[in-house]
Amino acid sequence: MLQSKPKDDNYLHKGLRKQLVQSLRVKGIKDERVLTAIEAIPRHFFLDPAFERQAYEDRAFPITAGQTISQPYTVAYQTQLLELKKFDKVLEIGTGSAYQACVLGELGITLCTIERQRALYDYVGQFFFLKKYPNIKRFYGDGFEGLPSFAPFDKIIITCGAPFLPPKLLEQLKPGGIMVVPVGEDEKQKMIRITKDADGTLWQQEMGDFSFVPMLQGKNN
Ligand code: SAH
Repeated sequence: MLQSKPKDDNYLHKGLRKQLVQSLRVKGIKDERVLTAIEAIPRHFFLDPAFERQAYEDRAFPITAGQTISQPYTVAYQTQLLELKKFDKVLEIGTGSAYQACVLGELGITLCTIERQRALYDYVGQFFFLKKYPNIKRFYGDGFEGLPSFAPFDKIIITCGAPFLPPKLLEQLKPGGIMVVPVGEDEKQKMIRITKDADGTLWQQEMGDFSFVPMLQGKNN
């Protein structure tokens, strides 16, 4: 699981990362900034040392508290859909391992990220690698509520399967903003990209099928 002491990031890891990035290119990820971020981040830091090689396979992986670290393709795809600009203020729901958070943090934006599981929130708090990203602020709370005191956000990314579009998050999206959210009540969701017009009108695009752990109501102690 996540380590509190720095780990080694050697030529083997870097080589595996290059191959991973190449495979994401082949699968259609085009945003070079996103690919550069993935190439920069040692994903094996986020997994148990026994799974160093698997860290660079393009698949989701179990982490603590019955949750998962998202598949690199999914992380890259959702990040690309956000069309991030430097200095954007971004809200993430579902910190999990903080891998997606670090990919966002690498892109020079300000990130607020919420996790509902206390154990996971506390665990990630000890993760040395996060010190690299003073632009990431973590919160323990219920993502359905968003963060009214930090709103509005230029971009919102939900990294768990939402049963419906969370109304408070739609409110906390800036006019001109983008929200990327997997929506569906069973294990399969449709990736939805919402854009909010200058006059507040919401537009919705469907962007393919994905599978996430569910977005659950309330906090879990
Ligand atoms: N972005 C994460 C993905 C983790 S899986 C990563 O890169 O590793 C999704 C996470 O969403 C889980 O940790 C789960 O506990 C969290 N989650 C589910 N419902 C939530 C809610 N209502 N508010 C905040 N987090 C939630």
